[in-house]
Amino acid sequence: FRNQVTDIKMVVNQVFNNFKMIHPDFTFSLDDDLRKPTYVSMFRDHLEQVLIILMDNAVKYSQTRKEVHVSLSEDGRNAQVSVQDFGEGIAPENMDRVFNRFYRVDKARSREKGGNGLGLSIAKRLVEGYNGHVSVESSLGHGSIFQISLHILTDQERHHLEELQATQEPSKPLDETL
Ligand code: ATP
Repeated sequence: FRNQVTDIKMVVNQVFNNFKMIHPDFTFSLDDDLRKPTYVSMFRDHLEQVLIILMDNAVKYSQTRKEVHVSLSEDGRNAQVSVQDFGEGIAPENMDRVFNRFYRVDKARSREKGGNGLGLSIAKRLVEGYNGHVSVESSLGHGSIFQISLHILTDQERHHLEELQATQEPSKPLDETL
């Protein structure tokens, strides 16, 4: 999986457009500062899964002000994707725990919103499995920003990985790796 070269910009755009289609009641905006295209070393389905988890939460926890802002940027050698909502936010004492397995801030809500508290733990595990980072900033009652950061491949690294990829078997499906 580490050998897979993926254009982060393309995957973000695809997930973004799907969410726009699925949630016509929301306002989605996308800020894109990346040079095109920007390659990272992450299995494409894994990146897609992470983005879906973050976007899905942004929609789920911001039913009052239906707005989600996605931004793509780069900082030195890393590419960042951040997903911002303007919904219920997270209290400071719960911020560390949202990435834990089965943790939900409001347990009574589980039936109503259908989650089980696994999404963010999976997202964190996937991103860190590729030496990336996840972080969150939030303000209770005002909204949250979840961000992932991944190393941008240099041209040399990319060519090397593409050569390796060409000599290897096709990747396994997502559920075999979690
Ligand atoms: P699922 O397993 O379906 O993803 P979930 O949304 O409860 O269920 P996580 O994605 O792991 O699970 O999120 C854990 C908890 O973190 C949520 O229950 C919620 O309390 C809080 N949380 C996650 N994203 C946000 C957000 N954008 N705004 C406010 N709270 C959030």
